[in-house]
Amino acid sequence: MAKIVILGGSFGGLTTAFELKRRLGGKAEITLLCDVDEFVFVPSLPWVSMGWRRPEDITLSLDKILKPKGIKFIHEEAVGVDADASKVIAKTEEIPYDYLVIATGPALVFSAVPGLGPEDGHTECIFTLEQALRTRKAWDRFLENPGPIVIGSVQGVSCFGPTYEYAFEVDAELRKRKIRHKVPITFVTSEPYIGHFGMSGLKNSRRIMEDEFADRDINFIANQAVDEFTAEEARLKDGTKLPFRLAMFAPPMSGVKAVFHLGNPKGFIPVDGNYRHREYKNIFSVGVAMAIAPPEQTPVPTGVPKTGYMTEEMAKYAAMSIADEIEGKPLSGTGPIGAICIMDMGNKAAIMKAKPMLPPRQEAELKAGIIYKWMKQGFEKYYLWKIKRGLTNLP
Ligand SMILES: Cc1cc2nc3c(=O)[nH]c(=O)nc-3n(C[C@H](O)[C@H](O)[C@H](O)COP(=O)(O)OP(=O)(O)OC[C@H]3O[C@@H](n4cnc5c(N)ncnc54)[C@H](O)[C@@H]3O)c2cc1C
Repeated sequence: MAKIVILGGSFGGLTTAFELKRRLGGKAEITLLCDVDEFVFVPSLPWVSMGWRRPEDITLSLDKILKPKGIKFIHEEAVGVDADASKVIAKTEEIPYDYLVIATGPALVFSAVPGLGPEDGHTECIFTLEQALRTRKAWDRFLENPGPIVIGSVQGVSCFGPTYEYAFEVDAELRKRKIRHKVPITFVTSEPYIGHFGMSGLKNSRRIMEDEFADRDINFIANQAVDEFTAEEARLKDGTKLPFRLAMFAPPMSGVKAVFHLGNPKGFIPVDGNYRHREYKNIFSVGVAMAIAPPEQTPVPTGVPKTGYMTEEMAKYAAMSIADEIEGKPLSGTGPIGAICIMDMGNKAAIMKAKPMLPPRQEAELKAGIIYKWMKQGFEKYYLWKIKRGLTNLP
């Protein structure tokens, strides 16, 4: 029986596991290895940082959702992969595989800018549950003694959406508390313009986002790199100094250590159209762990975002290719990956659709309204319900 090992228990890993099980049933032994024992609904992390969600609202036990599906779960960190010998090296054991799916997401590179990050630096982050909870505490302290806030994305960032969400949420919450007038908010980004999102914009995203920032009195500085953060200020490349009482900045990403050697210079896994490693034919990679080349060179370096929807699409195609091969069928082939995303804006939200994800596009849409906020809240509940039952919602 074919042995399939999946690294990572989030959007990419779980979707691949469920989809392989659905297609192959008992024809394969599927093992999922993850360094944490819970699935975290990452898109709700900005809400955790605002105190709008508790961790228990957005997490599920991996063991409880994988066991009933007949998928073996190992709660352990992969420390390496021996691709020539087809085995994963975990902390306490070596796991051989016929097929490996890498869905390990990103490592966060706080060392890219001096003073960046919550551990050794002076800025908060909302990219992991632990960081979001820390930001929540910093927010509570900030509310006792409000002052300037600086929010942004440093050079090399690829995931821009959550930073926009955080800026809009901070604005909405301060207005609700009637203290917005005490807090100058500045948004700093490496994107060449506001609303670029690492994907060369989306229809009139530049105008919409600039208007939203103007409406909310949020100052913005685009096309900018950061030299360093001190405990009191952000020092930008052009000499601007922005004092802050709270700073939240997104870091650049790389591939994780265990699979770095299988990737490009940033450790992201190079794959073909079937999400198969370009050199090792029994290794696949999906989601944030895989490599996508930017569509354009931006003046300040930026990367391409890999969203949850895109990750699920990739997982579907990777699972399909593996299942076809195991069953001795010709590969079904894959299609262009699109992106659908709902960006929270505090008091409303914006839906963004792009197909394909990068230009030139067949379809593109960007609309804001309160209805999309309700959709985002509904989607969170629906997704957790779906993943708890091991459903992939795929044809
Ligand atoms: C704050 C935030 C908000 C977002 N909001 C949205 C949104 O609204 N809509 C949207 O579409 N997308 C959103 N995204 C993007 C979305 O979260 C990602 O596309 C998605 O999480 C990618 O899934 P993944 O499985 O590739 O990686 P991840 O979700 O990063 O998961 C990687 C998994 O691998 C595990 N792992 C890592 N290293 C190892 C190892 N060595 N051994 C074993 N396990 C390991 C990790 O613990 C984790 O379980 C957001 C991202 C962030 C950070």
